[in-house]
Amino acid sequence: MRVTVSAAAVLMILLCPAGAAIAGQLLRIDGGTVKWPSSASGSRVVTFAVLTGRFAVTGTSRTLSRYNCSSMGAFADILDNSPAISPAMAHKALRAAFAAWEGVADIAFRQVFDLGKANIIVGATDSHRGRAFANLTYAGPGNGPSSENGHADKALGGSRVSGGQPSVLPMQNARPVHIERAYVCLSPRVRWKIGFDSNLKIYDLRYTFTHEIGHAIGLDHPGKSGAVMGYRYDESVEGLQQSDIEAVRALYGPRRSREPLLELQGSSRK
Ligand SMILES: [Zn+2]
Repeated sequence: MRVTVSAAAVLMILLCPAGAAIAGQLLRIDGGTVKWPSSASGSRVVTFAVLTGRFAVTGTSRTLSRYNCSSMGAFADILDNSPAISPAMAHKALRAAFAAWEGVADIAFRQVFDLGKANIIVGATDSHRGRAFANLTYAGPGNGPSSENGHADKALGGSRVSGGQPSVLPMQNARPVHIERAYVCLSPRVRWKIGFDSNLKIYDLRYTFTHEIGHAIGLDHPGKSGAVMGYRYDESVEGLQQSDIEAVRALYGPRRSREPLLELQGSSRK
């Protein structure tokens, strides 16, 4: 698997001060961008589920990282060291993070409660290092979008990868690689917060979810900071920045009107 260094740089956010404006960056595998396919009907609805129990990612040769979110616990476990945050507050932060991306690009997210039908799985990481991670499993070039059942089966362990041999993907410059499943996981070993307070040692949940979901939909780090997708936690970044928006729109296009009346009135929801 020839994954670019930036993608393999393990999709985690670190900590540090703000920087200048930066250009957005897309995850690439063998030169191709990585994105969620649209359904046969043309809509692009990505489902997500929060874990209520344990989950192990069955790594295949087409899993971006062998380590990120490989072993996960329940979503509520993320709050083990954050007694001031209720599970409901954490869910709200997660929904706000999905809504941020949905608000600017032609991609929509729906929560499901059947893990087998979830495209993105969100939970706690078992890793003792780092704070927040993302990972994804992708289809080979030319496979096209897989059926919902097909990709669920694969991600849940039904994939027939023989002999543990890494598959060698042909160079497919600029041809999109379709995401089959993605994972977002946060550490229960650190303390989290809701909102910014200038203490850069404790990360805001919504910001962190927004960053990791960005990876789960195909975005890479554009640089250190100046964007939500910057790899360093940065409280001078309030919501998606221009480079974040340009990057997600490069993959999915701008948000199509789902409320034509409001759009006509110039009341677009960012
Ligand atoms: Zn990251």
